[in-house]
Amino acid sequence: MKNQLSNRINNLPESATLAMAAKARELKAQGIDIISLSLGEPDFNTPDFIKEAAIQAINDNYNSYSPVDGFLDVKEAVCRKFKRDNGLDYKPSQVVVSTGAKQSIANVAMVLLNPGDEVLLPAPYWVSYAAISVLGEATPIEIPSSIDTDFKITPEQLEAAITPKTKMIFFNSPNNPSGVIYSEAEYRALAKVLEKYPNIYILSDEIYEHICYGEKIFSFAAIESMYDRTITVNGLAKAYAMTGWRIGYIGAPEWIAKACNKLQGQITSGTNCIAQRATITALDAPISKIQYMVDEFHKRRDMMLELLGKIDGFKLNKPGGAFYLFPDVSAFFGREIKGYKIENSADFSLFLLGEAAIATVSGESFGAPDCIRISYATSEAQLREAVARIEKALS
Ligand code: GLU
Repeated sequence: MKNQLSNRINNLPESATLAMAAKARELKAQGIDIISLSLGEPDFNTPDFIKEAAIQAINDNYNSYSPVDGFLDVKEAVCRKFKRDNGLDYKPSQVVVSTGAKQSIANVAMVLLNPGDEVLLPAPYWVSYAAISVLGEATPIEIPSSIDTDFKITPEQLEAAITPKTKMIFFNSPNNPSGVIYSEAEYRALAKVLEKYPNIYILSDEIYEHICYGEKIFSFAAIESMYDRTITVNGLAKAYAMTGWRIGYIGAPEWIAKACNKLQGQITSGTNCIAQRATITALDAPISKIQYMVDEFHKRRDMMLELLGKIDGFKLNKPGGAFYLFPDVSAFFGREIKGYKIENSADFSLFLLGEAAIATVSGESFGAPDCIRISYATSEAQLREAVARIEKALS
């Protein structure tokens, strides 16, 4: 049958993270003992105090449509969070609550991008930034980095990538997949470049802000000259173990928030009202209530750095946050191991899946073809077993 699908969907790559997670599920269902280190999803349950707030909301009959951009008191809770954690002043009219940070990002891309616009992606970057930019008919432009620069880009690289067509830059710290955290000084150095180009917008994805191991986090919008053209994206999925609840939000200039509200009103309407009610409880709680999860991720990061660090050919950076390791595995390229020809990170990832039953995500779709992403958001026992299997497969 002739392909009847739109060019839009035909040109859209599948999400590499979700595709690998689906593959791991499928193999598990076939009885194969897969350890999935593919998906960035906390292995904790949502804390009880948040679950109780949702149950209360059901009992209070929160069963109707909410305002498209979220209940006013939810947006007020978001404003309090921005002030408390980021020192940012947003009014509720600058906030839009959405069905996950992914929708928040897609909203912003759709309301700002035009065909022909260029979008800057400091690499490595989360897989969906590029795809969402393409959906917005813009051209993603990668700014490369490598493990040798701790996966950070320099102000000179940023300046060199800017053209008259540049409309937006995606910025993500702590970073998925590298885990690196830009310091305030590094933010300010990048902002100095952007100050010269007032037509460029900054989408600052801060979804991993609480999952950090001692380094200070900072927000783009906290730089005065950037505030009016930064869209700060965040959500509950990662820090509160609420991936399936689908709550994301933005703080943005009012005209951008208004446009996102209009778009959302034609596509999804307001997000799930039970999850919204629980959002108030989650955001108003002291961060100490979720620290036990961060402490556990911290322990696992250290353990994984130690264990993987012993494997020849795995070159590692020390991530300051998020729950991923992003080893450079290019030492294996050009080799044949147990019948697997390894030319690139996709081959290496397939080798780990086939030979060790370990699901990872190859670096190509993150704009870093020398690396693979390993999520350590799984139990210590599983992680130890995973490393043992990798060692065995390589032996
Ligand atoms: N953001 C997570 C990840 O990178 C969840 C999957 C996704 O939406 O990409 O694994």
